[in-house]
Amino acid sequence: MSSPSLKETRPFHDVKFVKGAVSHLHFPADDRPFVLFAGRSNCGKSSLLNALAQRHNLARVSKTPGRTTEANFFDVSGRFYLVDLPGYGFAAAARAKRAEWDALAADLFADPRTRIVLLLIDIRRMPDENDRALIEFARSRGRTLRYVLTRRDKIGRGEFSRVMSAWRREWGINELSVASVPCFVTSSKTKEGIAELAKAIEEYAAPAP
Ligand code: GDP
Repeated sequence: MSSPSLKETRPFHDVKFVKGAVSHLHFPADDRPFVLFAGRSNCGKSSLLNALAQRHNLARVSKTPGRTTEANFFDVSGRFYLVDLPGYGFAAAARAKRAEWDALAADLFADPRTRIVLLLIDIRRMPDENDRALIEFARSRGRTLRYVLTRRDKIGRGEFSRVMSAWRREWGINELSVASVPCFVTSSKTKEGIAELAKAIEEYAAPAP
């Protein structure tokens, strides 16, 4: 007998790169929802997108050095878009780049199709000033933000509980309310947490009842 719950939690299979966009003028013209992926450079974003799409090089295009600041749109089964924001963490010197990033993010956060902002952070780090700026940006625009803690495989069990306590303190959540921790814990290497994240994304992107 087939198990519907197993099917529901599979990552995405029909994912296609659609286009890169520097501003809202180049966003797709249809009304499908956007699920945004943000995070500093090297946070594991390309690997996570590849894991979600079950592909090896889907998100490689976003990594070409020297590329202009573009958000990459990936179509999931003609139902919604995964939107890959450029990684941040620019040197102070790269002011122009930062301004481009801010303008692009402002367009995406203002877009009525945006359903959720997923902020990726390496599980071994805490949010840096760029992450905090993004969190504040999402909050000020009334956007729901969820954390995706990446590279779970890099720490053992003991370290994991220590790290999660630090995250709970960060969020002002105590041990008793663990169930409400607003995060996903993933590893693109072992695929831990990938199916759960895919399922949650489906729900964020689902049409309003
Ligand atoms: P991006 O710059 O945010 O797109 O980061 P990448 O996805 O390219 O990841 C940067 C490096 O971290 C690469 O060498 C990846 O193989 C590695 N990496 C990404 N995710 C994981 C993970 O979950 N586990 C491990 N062990 N390595 C990872």
